[in-house]
Amino acid sequence: MELFYNCKIYAPERLTQTQVLTATGKILAIGDDLSVTGVPLKEFDLEGRCLVPGFIDQHVHVTGGGGQFGFASLIPEVTLAELAATGTTTVVGLLGTDGFVKDLPTLYAKVKALDAEGLSAYMLTSYYGLPERTLTGSVAEDLIYIDKVIGCKLALSDDRCSFPTELEILRLINQVRLGGFTSGKHGILHIHLGNLKTRIDVLHHIVDQYPSLISYLSPTHCIRTRPLFDTCVEFAKKGGMMDISTGGTRFVEAHQAVALALEAGVPLSNLTFSSDGHGGVRREDPATGEVSYTPAPLTLNYKEMVALVRDGILPLESALQLLTTNPARNLSLRCKGRIAAGCDADFVALNEDLSIHSVYAKGKKVYAS
Ligand SMILES: [Zn+2]
Repeated sequence: MELFYNCKIYAPERLTQTQVLTATGKILAIGDDLSVTGVPLKEFDLEGRCLVPGFIDQHVHVTGGGGQFGFASLIPEVTLAELAATGTTTVVGLLGTDGFVKDLPTLYAKVKALDAEGLSAYMLTSYYGLPERTLTGSVAEDLIYIDKVIGCKLALSDDRCSFPTELEILRLINQVRLGGFTSGKHGILHIHLGNLKTRIDVLHHIVDQYPSLISYLSPTHCIRTRPLFDTCVEFAKKGGMMDISTGGTRFVEAHQAVALALEAGVPLSNLTFSSDGHGGVRREDPATGEVSYTPAPLTLNYKEMVALVRDGILPLESALQLLTTNPARNLSLRCKGRIAAGCDADFVALNEDLSIHSVYAKGKKVYAS
C-alpha cells in the first residue's frame, strides 16, 4: 500500500482532501486522515505539491516512425523513461506510414513491454493505409481477441494515404464498432489528417447521414492548417472529438489553437492533446542540404498544457482535462484520467511553478526530477 500525503489534489477538479491511499495499482480512498494498520505502507510526502492524474498520450509511435527517406530514416523505439519524464503514464501506440518494416506484432510486443515495465499501454490496429493490416484477419477480431487493441488507425486527405472512399471508412467504423461492443471496449477509428484540400469533407458527410457514428471517429492533426482547423471546429461542434497534435506541422501553437477553438464554441470536453511522439521529423541542414530524420519529442503535451495555464487561457483544473479526462473518455479507458476511488493510481506531482517533481504509474514511482 502507498499513502500520498500533503497534496493539493486535482482530480482534475480541485479537491479539498490532502491524502490518497493506493494498493496494487488502484486508488482505494481519498481523505484527510487515512491510516492503515497491519500491512506495510510506503509513504510519499508531497510537501504541498499538486497531485494530478497521470497524463494520457493517445498518439505515440512507440516502435518509432519514419522510414520516409530510406531505411536509415527509421526512428528508434520509445523508452519508459522518456514517457515517464513527461508525465505520461498511459500511452496508445500506433503505426504510421510505416506499416511494413514496423509491423503490428512488434507494436504489440512493445506495448506489452511498456505495460510490464509499469506504464499502461494500448495500441491501434492497422496503419496509415488500405487494405488494412491486422493481427488476426480483421479489425473487429483484433479488438475482440487482442487485449491491447482499442481501435484502428487510418490516414485521410494526405498525399501519402490510400485515398479511402466513404464506403471504406464506413466499413472500418463498422469493424471497430462490432469489435468494440463484442469485447466491451468502445472502439475508435483514429484518423490521421493531411493537408489535402479534401480535408474532412467525407467525415462531415458520414456524420450528417449517420449522426450516431460520430463517437467512433477520432480525427487527429486537426491544427495542421487553418482551413483544416476550421472544418474540425465544425465537426467538434456537431459533437465530435478534435485531437490537437502538440508537435509537427501546425498553423499556431497547440495552446493557441485551444483558445481559438473555445472562442469558436467548441466544448472543452471535445478537445484532446497528443504528441505524435517518435514520429519522424525531417530536418534539412541549411548549409549542406543534407536531410535527416529525428524522433518527434514526447514533452510537448505537458509543455502546451502548462502554456494554457501560463497564458491565462485555462486554469490548471481545466487545462489538465486535455491530457486526462478527455482522452480517457475518447478511448473509453474508464479507470484512467481521474483521481478517484477505483481508478488506477497514476499521478504526476507538480511543483508550484508546474514543473514535474515526480511521476507514479499504478502506484509505483517511475520518474523523479
Ligand atoms: Zn503519427
